[in-house]
Amino acid sequence: MKVALITPFLSHLPLHPSSYLGYGAAILRKRYELEIIDLNAHIYFKSREGLKEVLSAFDKKPVVVDNSDLYPHCDQLTDTAEKELKQISWKDYQTVFITTPSWFTTIPTEDILKLSNLIKRESHRTEIVFFANSLGSWTEEGRLVKHGIRIGHLNDLFNVNPGNEPVKYDTLPAPVYENREKYLFDLLPFRMKHGCTWGKCRFCSLARGWNSGYLERSGKAIIQEMEELIDRYNPKMLVCRDNSINGNNLLEFCSHFEKFKKPWVGMARADLSAKEIQALQKSGCKFIYFGLESGSDRVLSEINKGIDTRQMSHFIRELYDHGIMPAPSLFVGTPGETEDDFEKTVQFISDHKDFVEIINLYPLMITPGSDFSITKEEPNTKALIRLNTLIRVCRDIGIKTCVGAQCAEYLLFKRVYPNQDHNSTGYG
Ligand code: SF4
Repeated sequence: MKVALITPFLSHLPLHPSSYLGYGAAILRKRYELEIIDLNAHIYFKSREGLKEVLSAFDKKPVVVDNSDLYPHCDQLTDTAEKELKQISWKDYQTVFITTPSWFTTIPTEDILKLSNLIKRESHRTEIVFFANSLGSWTEEGRLVKHGIRIGHLNDLFNVNPGNEPVKYDTLPAPVYENREKYLFDLLPFRMKHGCTWGKCRFCSLARGWNSGYLERSGKAIIQEMEELIDRYNPKMLVCRDNSINGNNLLEFCSHFEKFKKPWVGMARADLSAKEIQALQKSGCKFIYFGLESGSDRVLSEINKGIDTRQMSHFIRELYDHGIMPAPSLFVGTPGETEDDFEKTVQFISDHKDFVEIINLYPLMITPGSDFSITKEEPNTKALIRLNTLIRVCRDIGIKTCVGAQCAEYLLFKRVYPNQDHNSTGYG
């Protein structure tokens, strides 16, 4: 009997395979005859002509919005995904492991249940297991269990009753990635830790649920894994998928990573030291995506960011001076945001226009597992009006504006590696 490892089809651009898929594949392959089905990547790949049109519109527009420029295209693909799923002979699999596609942690419970129900309808004996860091935030563990889905953990995928603990990446085999032509970029993910050094932002779901807790890897283990990945796949670039690269292993990692002469990118909190930024530059880091969140110190304090606007400003300038593109993300509409706070945000953006090419803006959403969601806070009623104003401001001062993380990530990768997108990989 065989085992399958599958991702659900979601509105997640297949920028690269997910770490969970790679580690899961490496673990399962040691024990079973394994079929890896990254359905999300496969469906986008099947409709690559349509996707190319969508993505080239991203390139041309000064303002790109996931909701209107990408998601309608994804909706059209849902039927294709369902047809593909019906063609799979689920009876051939003793167990089907479901995990996250690409990079997002936002996997709605409904999507897992839909996939699981479809499998069970054809093969009620097939065991279904779900493992991903969206558990306890975007994916409701209890509802999955109620529907007969077993919860798995990367630390021990065969344990039927795993606890919620940080992933011990150092103990896992090097990830396995297949069918790399199905991804938009010749790009592989890696991890330097589980969790976030801070973990206390009140709006944040990323550091909640099964993604909470903190465990750093040893610099040596990361580099050994990199050596294996680079030898086996020789990717054009790499992306660190930590919530923030800040940590005690960053300097050691950078000093060893230099030898690979590969560009890489990551996410950080805006309080890296001058020494760390220098090390990033030397190691080949090309952009840092970070949560600016607001240009108002009052709002930064309200959301418990732990970083003020003076540090944010310094960070942007330091990255820029070191040839690393600062890629800020910010939102409008925190519950207590005043007109004065909003004006400060507009001013902050205008003051930094010479350092920022691409910005990710969005209206605050109360996401599952966050403090804001637990305390039942509501976004400010002016959020959408302010978002539109800020979009106009950014457009007028020449900053390319992305409303939504999908278009932002795509355009940032494209900006750093203009020749490594779908036109020069399997999508061509
Ligand atoms: S928003 Fe970022 S820095 Fe803040 S807790 Fe979440 S992951 Fe950590």
